[in-house]
Amino acid sequence: VNAPRKQATAALTATALLLVIGATADAAELSAAKPCPLPKRPPGTVSEPGQALRRTGRCVPQERERIRTVGIPPYTDGSTGLGDPYFPSAGNGGYDAKNYDVTLAYRSPDKHIDAVVKMTATATQALSGFSLDLRGLRVRSVLVDGLPAVFRRERQELMVTPATPLPRGRSFTTVVRYSGRPGPLSGPMLGTYGWIPTQDGILTLSEPDGTPTWMPVNDHPRDKATYTFRVTVPNWLQVIANGEPRPPVRGAATTTYTWVERSPMASYLAMIAIGRFRTLRGRAGSLPVITAVDPQYAGAAGKLHRTTIAVLNWQRSLFGRYPFATGGGVIDDPDVGYALETQERPVYAGFVPDTDFIVHELAHQWFGNSVSLTAWPDIWLNEGFATYAEWLWQEHRTAKAKKGRRDTAKKIFTRYYRQPADSPIFQPPPGQPGRRDLFGFSVYIRGAMCLQALRQRIGDRAFFRTLRAWIAERRHGNGRTADFVALAERQSGRQLDRLFHAWLYAKGKPRDW
Ligand SMILES: [Zn+2]
Repeated sequence: VNAPRKQATAALTATALLLVIGATADAAELSAAKPCPLPKRPPGTVSEPGQALRRTGRCVPQERERIRTVGIPPYTDGSTGLGDPYFPSAGNGGYDAKNYDVTLAYRSPDKHIDAVVKMTATATQALSGFSLDLRGLRVRSVLVDGLPAVFRRERQELMVTPATPLPRGRSFTTVVRYSGRPGPLSGPMLGTYGWIPTQDGILTLSEPDGTPTWMPVNDHPRDKATYTFRVTVPNWLQVIANGEPRPPVRGAATTTYTWVERSPMASYLAMIAIGRFRTLRGRAGSLPVITAVDPQYAGAAGKLHRTTIAVLNWQRSLFGRYPFATGGGVIDDPDVGYALETQERPVYAGFVPDTDFIVHELAHQWFGNSVSLTAWPDIWLNEGFATYAEWLWQEHRTAKAKKGRRDTAKKIFTRYYRQPADSPIFQPPPGQPGRRDLFGFSVYIRGAMCLQALRQRIGDRAFFRTLRAWIAERRHGNGRTADFVALAERQSGRQLDRLFHAWLYAKGKPRDW
């Protein structure tokens, strides 16, 4: 067994050596008996000490290298990215995050945080180590299943080596303790995002990759998870976040606010807002709606609240059941120039939104939040659809007006189509806009035009059936452009390659489709 053993030993990774395997049989037995049958072991499981070589009758135990051939995969580190074409190091391979329990203490006025994030995940491969995404901040300790783990930092990766390797299929917890003063990111076309200071606190707006500025996370929409936020702030501040609130717990100087997001959520949609807020509660049908506005926008609270309820009711009649436990909206003061569809509670940053804005962000609850991207180049599945919802709102709003005053999606399409070919609404093609133009005009406008072109081709019945099926079939999941095209073809019985190619991928102004 010398040569094969040497080979096999080399093939074993350091962690796989943790397999404890019994003694070698003596020479006399080896010559006298047949080798024992190898135990069947599902891939990815670790053998118990001695079990692999337990004798049965007069057979001879087989050596370590033979046992490895039954298919225990080597333990390897999960990848440090998911290979997204635009954000290759966003997200991490080898595990599926199920829940993040975020405990965060916020200090004022220096906006320093002390935080503990507990991630519960399942290993999707036999793991010797894995990564989380985290930018900046000081990591104090990492525990995996309660045991101290070795960790190191490399750019946006927090690389963790647990004391014991993780078999495939194992559910495990990772507890990261960290502290520091988070700050925002900024990028061309992306603006300011991540952890953003406000006059009286902070606000997180993290699309596309800003959540690692304030918490360790598997930062890609492909790995959605549920979240609990427990945020402790000085008594004079409040906390708003995604999901449902629990009663705040007030201490002598600080109050802890807990919010629970029970539906799977893409990491970029995680939102906490710390500050002073005027909060309104109501219902859209039976759905609880929570609106919170910074005091400087107090006068706009009622209108935002009422419009949110009216729009949610209309969208439910159009897109089907609302996918989450609550609805709402937040106005806070950082003037970053955009709104974000943060799950259950969109944020309008630095302005009072008009109805179109509210329609857009709430439409994302179905398109983008419940049905999420599989890869960032498919961003038109979020933005084209939410923009098209605005056109549908115009159509709905003016439905009872005199004929000349009606503003249909078809009319809006026609107005845009008159724009010259070199208009930024036409390029780059929205199906593959490039990282720089992720949130460019064409993703929104030409993306919405693609849907109108589809509607005109397949008719209203098949079109709205397609939208509702997209939502119903992929609720709390993910989708790709190719999936949507296939669905539209199934629902309409038409061949639609040419139409989608013209509107999503062809250069210049679409001509024939
Ligand atoms: Zn949007």
